[in-house]
Amino acid sequence: MDGADRGRHRDRDDTEEPAYCGHCGEPLVGRGGDPQDHAPCVRRLELEPPRYCPDCRRRMVVQVTPRGWTASCSRHGVTTG
Ligand SMILES: [Zn+2]
Ligand SMILES: [Zn+2]
Repeated sequence: MDGADRGRHRDRDDTEEPAYCGHCGEPLVGRGGDPQDHAPCVRRLELEPPRYCPDCRRRMVVQVTPRGWTASCSRHGVTTG
């Protein structure tokens, strides 16, 4: 058995941690693992819909509705807010 050098396996649906900033589309964690400063983006996202899919960084199609907004990724479906 060679389990020692494998580390933990990664399943795609293991966790649902977002990888990208929904506002600017930059990775939330830089190379080297440093968290990037997206505090201004987070504040913007409280007021406006995300532009980028946090899972795949695709541009999302955003529609503002009377009750809020919907943002849809062609791969990951619709987010509402
Ligand atoms: Zn950002
Ligand atoms: Zn997506």
